[in-house]
Amino acid sequence: MLDRWVHQVVCWARRKSPWVLHFNSGGCNGCDIEILDLLTPRYDVERLGIVKEASPRHADILLCTGPVTRQSRDRLRRIYEQMPAPKWVVAMGSCACSGGLFAEGFNVLGGVDQILPVDIYVPGCPCRPEAMIDGIARLLGEIK
Ligand code: SF4
Repeated sequence: MLDRWVHQVVCWARRKSPWVLHFNSGGCNGCDIEILDLLTPRYDVERLGIVKEASPRHADILLCTGPVTRQSRDRLRRIYEQMPAPKWVVAMGSCACSGGLFAEGFNVLGGVDQILPVDIYVPGCPCRPEAMIDGIARLLGEIK
């Protein structure tokens, strides 16, 4: 009974205060600048309980921008493996969703889903902060 109660509290806390790690695997930085917007007073995602985290060992959600390149593939995979389960992946921007305008590049493998299981796709070039918040909110709605 106590275990179940503790589990419910942990799930509630995870839904109410996700810690998000951001990684750019090869994009142009346009999406990254929009992610920084999320932390400004205008969007202020911390009021929604969303906290930007620097360490993969403390993160619940991996926010990916940019296409996956041959150079970043192993690093992206290693970061994902360092995150504790349960964990989720959000592909932010057209590049992370499908490779975007870099898809034909000689060193580009494609979108993040070529390497990791993606839970939510948020297209756009760059994707707007409102769309990013909506994507994370959709993901939190799916977390049971
Ligand atoms: S989706 Fe557009 S803005 Fe974002 S990394 Fe790709 S090219 Fe840059």
